Amino acid sequence: MNDLLPIHNSIEPMLIAGPCSAENLGQMLATASGLHAAGVEIFRAGVWKPRTRPGGFEGCGERALQWLREVKDRFGMLTATEVGCARHAELALQAGVDVLWIGARTSASPFAMDEIAEALAGTDVPVLVKNPICADLDLWIGAVERLYLRGLRRLGAIHRGFKSAADPVYRNTPHWEIADALREVLPGLPVICDPSHMAGRRDLVGPLVQEAMRRRYDGFIIEAHATPDEAWTDAAQQLTPADLGKIMAEKRNCQKRCSTFSTNAGMP
Ligand code: PEP
Ligand code: MN
Repeated sequence: MNDLLPIHNSIEPMLIAGPCSAENLGQMLATASGLHAAGVEIFRAGVWKPRTRPGGFEGCGERALQWLREVKDRFGMLTATEVGCARHAELALQAGVDVLWIGARTSASPFAMDEIAEALAGTDVPVLVKNPICADLDLWIGAVERLYLRGLRRLGAIHRGFKSAADPVYRNTPHWEIADALREVLPGLPVICDPSHMAGRRDLVGPLVQEAMRRRYDGFIIEAHATPDEAWTDAAQQLTPADLGKIMAEKRNCQKRCSTFSTNAGMP
């Protein structure tokens, strides 16, 4: 895979942020307004929500694509959503969604990946592939390869941690070494970190961002909501746009300190 194309032109590490789920237009615009002010360029929101068990909120579906469109028109942000089957992929493309991601429950299914890859063939839409729920590096690589084999070149991976039976701290254990192995096998593939789904709790998001920075990840996808405690899904891990802005400012300061340090380090 040495002919991959960039997903985003920004020189900064890529930052995608937004609510876990698109709930209604008001929630989307309130969140997008705060994130735009915080300098976020790509707005995420789940339109279709894959729930481990039935009965929870499964997303507003197709009509929520219009809300993403509204965010794009009002704030000039790019938009991103999850697609779980060929139909989702077609609808998202028709609605002009800029970046698609594949969820952790979908990247684990070679059949679903093939169907989605077939639906996207012939387009140049950027697609980010989350690691599968289980700690299986080959399954993750295979999901990326299925898109590549259909001609997609603007590809990336999202490291969101892995489900383990009893992690006392994280919702999904990071297992940084598995993402390191992915980066070794596919060196041209950008890998971004999803600290929100690793953490499961908002207080752990900042430290995970620092760790991913230290490991030189290519960017982040972080959940943020105008009123996180009222979020319909993943309430405990979502940040306010203002808190996300603070974490990102710290990240930028740390970047500056690091680059000053490395410049000085080379001086006599
Ligand atoms: C999400 O991004 O909201 C999501 C459902 O994530 P994952 O597929 O990583 O569980
Ligand atoms: Mn979520």
